[in-house]
Amino acid sequence: MGTPLRMCVVCRKMKTKSELLRVAKNGGEFLVDVSGKLPGRGAYICKNGDCCMKFEKQRSFERAFKGALPSELKENIKKELI
Ligand SMILES: [Zn+2]
Repeated sequence: MGTPLRMCVVCRKMKTKSELLRVAKNGGEFLVDVSGKLPGRGAYICKNGDCCMKFEKQRSFERAFKGALPSELKENIKKELI
């Protein structure tokens, strides 16, 4: 019971899905998952400016997905969060 929590890849705090933006990797394709329902492996980031400012420098998504992140995806993440 209760609300399922997910961890932000930047601050590593557990939050509800509504507080987080999901990024999905399906095969070799990355997508900013605004709906939260896309298939594939997901990683989450807080919908706040703090974590958005840090994810590139900390390479948070690279660590979560164990690989490089397309620069276009980084721009799309920032567009959603700022
Ligand atoms: Zn965070």
